[in-house]
Amino acid sequence: MDEQFDFVVVGSGGGSMSAALVMREAGKSVLVLEKTDLLGGSTAKSGGVMWIPNNRFNAAEGIEDSLEKAEEYLNAVVEAYPGDAPGTSREKRRTYIVEANAMIDFLMRKGIPFEKAPKWPDYYDDRPGGMLTRTVHAKLFNVNELGEWKHKLRPNSFPYPLPIFDGVMLPLIKRSWTARRLAVTMTLRNWLGKLTGKKWVTAGAALQGRMLQAALNAGVEFRTGAEVKEIVVANDAVTGVVIEKGGKQWQISARLGVLLNAGGFSHNQEMRDQYIPHTRKEWTHAAEGDTGDMHRELMRIGAAMGQMEEMVGNQMFMSPTGGPVGAQMQLAKPHAFMVDQTGTRYMNEGGSYMLFCQSMLERHKTVPAVPSWVIMDSQFKRYHMMADSMPGSNKPAEWFSSGFLKTAPTIEELAGEIDVDPATLKATTERFNTFARNGKDEDFGRGDREYDKWLGDIRRPPTPRSARSRKARSTRCRSCPAMSALSAAR
Ligand SMILES: Cc1cc2nc3c(=O)[nH]c(=O)nc-3n(C[C@H](O)[C@H](O)[C@H](O)COP(=O)(O)OP(=O)(O)OC[C@H]3O[C@@H](n4cnc5c(N)ncnc54)[C@H](O)[C@@H]3O)c2cc1C
Repeated sequence: MDEQFDFVVVGSGGGSMSAALVMREAGKSVLVLEKTDLLGGSTAKSGGVMWIPNNRFNAAEGIEDSLEKAEEYLNAVVEAYPGDAPGTSREKRRTYIVEANAMIDFLMRKGIPFEKAPKWPDYYDDRPGGMLTRTVHAKLFNVNELGEWKHKLRPNSFPYPLPIFDGVMLPLIKRSWTARRLAVTMTLRNWLGKLTGKKWVTAGAALQGRMLQAALNAGVEFRTGAEVKEIVVANDAVTGVVIEKGGKQWQISARLGVLLNAGGFSHNQEMRDQYIPHTRKEWTHAAEGDTGDMHRELMRIGAAMGQMEEMVGNQMFMSPTGGPVGAQMQLAKPHAFMVDQTGTRYMNEGGSYMLFCQSMLERHKTVPAVPSWVIMDSQFKRYHMMADSMPGSNKPAEWFSSGFLKTAPTIEELAGEIDVDPATLKATTERFNTFARNGKDEDFGRGDREYDKWLGDIRRPPTPRSARSRKARSTRCRSCPAMSALSAAR
């Protein structure tokens, strides 16, 4: 061995940081190895939204939750889909529920301030044990506090100095005074920051910036550009890892163990084709280092693998001007629905992104659905963001020339544009409009869950003010009013 540590961590995501802090607390030497030049992994790019059941913030506000309730919920959600599996056995779920809270307490003792979202419903809040808020977030972080290390922190994709739970309001800027107030707060915070030498980051970057700061203060060692090539095994135990240094192999021993926390395989097309077919690496927002290195290395040394076909999927618009743009908040808004390549609607567009992707891939097994078409009317264009464009804006010429966006004055003509049977698309549209008028999506229950409503247009009342109201036709359901003139985008 060329070097020795008590504990070696592969990858610098969220779990890596907290594990490193725990080991330092126990007085052990810790080395974190990160293969890219930036620390933080996909965690730093993420929303940083942590599902922490029975948390101290809800308790302080008198919001009732319990370990039993959280367990009931988690079991109801997980077992409805893949069932009990090695990565998510009942025992592991229980451990998560108990330890998640202890983790937040521990990190707060390490100086990391958290807050809860006022509202961020559980994704399947209609299931037993579901609640309207259990998420915890790191508070905004002044990245300048990291000194030179700030250049080593992976930036977040949400560049605005607002907590992420406020950020979700911004797309409603044309429709909501709260969103306008938040935009003003954000601008003032930026100006004030410039005057006082502060640069605020949010979401996963705030979480990982704060974690990095705590870890550096605690004496954790970090190395970037340090790709782990091999896991060293002796007498049936992992004893260290091999990296490359100066063109040579460099062995690092880990007296107490190695934590492999090296992300998924979002950027490995071969593994996608094998485990999650019909998905492309170009669509991902995960950090570029997530190439499945450690999965392959674990297979080499004979580890048992499980649930390789699972993913944190998220629906994207493939905008010719903005690349893959998150579509979840947009598709759940009124005046839009989604169809497969035969013009048939096949899911609740407003639910969890996991379920969305699962449903899309499942559909694709029998009917071409990757990509699908979003059918929107002129009201959607006026009020809501579409891919990377603002509400009401003229859409870039490239969207039309590339075939990403098509428009037509009638449903039948639109069907011709997107190459689906006009009668099918017309029937789909009429059925959707009937549901919208009646305030009930009888096919997929869009708008039934609190989560769907939260993603929908919060400005829209859930029920019509009066049957004669001009808007009553289309306002029963926050996320599914009827359609008028049309466009379609993939
Ligand atoms: C845009 C986006 C938003 C998200 N929002 C949320 C959210 O709000 N809440 C939530 O719970 N989840 C969210 N997720 C999912 C969540 O971010 C990931 O599941 C989580 O960050 C994974 O953490 P990790 O530590 O396993 O991997 P990562 O954070 O990706 O860290 C893995 C690290 O390992 C490094 N690595 C890989 N191979 C090697 C090697 N051979 N040697 C050394 N280093 C290596 C990688 O470069 C990477 O830096 C989001 C994901 C994305 C992309």
